[in-house]
Amino acid sequence: MLGPVILAASRSDRIRRLISAAPVTKQVVDRFIPGETVEDIVPIIQDLTAKGLELTMDVVGEDITTPAQAAAARDAYLELVDRLEPLKLGARAEMSVKLSMFGQALEDGHELAFKNVRPVVEAAAAIGTTVTLDAEDHTTLDSMFAIHEELRKDFPETGCVIQSYLFRTEADARRLAASGSRVRLVKGAYKEPAEVAHQHKHEIDKAYVRILKILMDGEGYPMIGSHDPRLISIAQELAHRAGRKLDEYEFQMLYGIRSDEHLRLAAEGHRMRVYTAFGTDWYGYFMRRLAEKPANLRFFARSMITKG
Ligand SMILES: Cc1cc2nc3c(=O)[nH]c(=O)nc-3n(C[C@H](O)[C@H](O)[C@H](O)COP(=O)(O)OP(=O)(O)OC[C@H]3O[C@@H](n4cnc5c(N)ncnc54)[C@H](O)[C@@H]3O)c2cc1C
Repeated sequence: MLGPVILAASRSDRIRRLISAAPVTKQVVDRFIPGETVEDIVPIIQDLTAKGLELTMDVVGEDITTPAQAAAARDAYLELVDRLEPLKLGARAEMSVKLSMFGQALEDGHELAFKNVRPVVEAAAAIGTTVTLDAEDHTTLDSMFAIHEELRKDFPETGCVIQSYLFRTEADARRLAASGSRVRLVKGAYKEPAEVAHQHKHEIDKAYVRILKILMDGEGYPMIGSHDPRLISIAQELAHRAGRKLDEYEFQMLYGIRSDEHLRLAAEGHRMRVYTAFGTDWYGYFMRRLAEKPANLRFFARSMITKG
């Protein structure tokens, strides 16, 4: 139950200032967010792809407050595409975007986010790769799915994310599976109320399996976003039962979490994509990683006490 408490506390400005200013924070942040600039991240991309892994890149940042910041976020992704182009990795390095960062929560945010994300999807397609729309809190999802549908008219490979903790997700999965979409299934990382989401791990995991089955039996391309060993073996079994070949689904995990497992799955011949975040506005991303595993918070707190 510590996770939701951390997520709630992370909204406080005081906690944000405390965490952001602590000298030890940087070392812990680096485990999950291995660079601040495109130049920092290029060697990481080269290293991971040399090991047979694929990537989805996230330029971190979500709490923007002006259209100028949203345009800057778009430009940061366009710069990333420019830097990826000479590496000739094609679909091995794709991008994940949060529409909040592209202005979704601002006035006329739906239109603004669409206007900002479309050039990124277009630029990605021009270098042979794709974009996946991350799932944020439940209030943003109707807009995200509408933008996803609109983008797919010209760029059918555009992916989206669904979260097994939400009650709505089985219906979303059926719709997306029937339309042949690329869909990443995750458990969900936001603090959601009991009216819309399962609250217990057991229920969330059971829903994950039900939804995964829908995706595996459907027409689309399932992307299994989880580090949970039980769900990974279930996914392998469901893919096998659905008659899917190894290149007809993929696993995805976050940079810095269960890295041995990334390599093990890739060595078995699976497509294994590492979600790699970089940038300076890391606070929201970092706090979700702390909330997912209380041991991370204990480690972080201990480091602050011993080094602070
Ligand atoms: C590729 C990818 C993309 C994602 N995109 C989204 C998204 O768009 N929207 C969204 O809401 N959520 C997203 N998430 C986060 C997701 O919702 C979960 O919060 C997160 O993956 C933890 O759930 P789990 O399936 O790994 O299972 P868990 O049961 O939480 O974890 C299983 C095991 O993995 C390890 N582990 C998991 N998390 C951590 C951590 N933070 N630190 C250290 N070890 C850990 C632990 O060993 C743990 O026992 C994404 C996750 C992945 C892998």
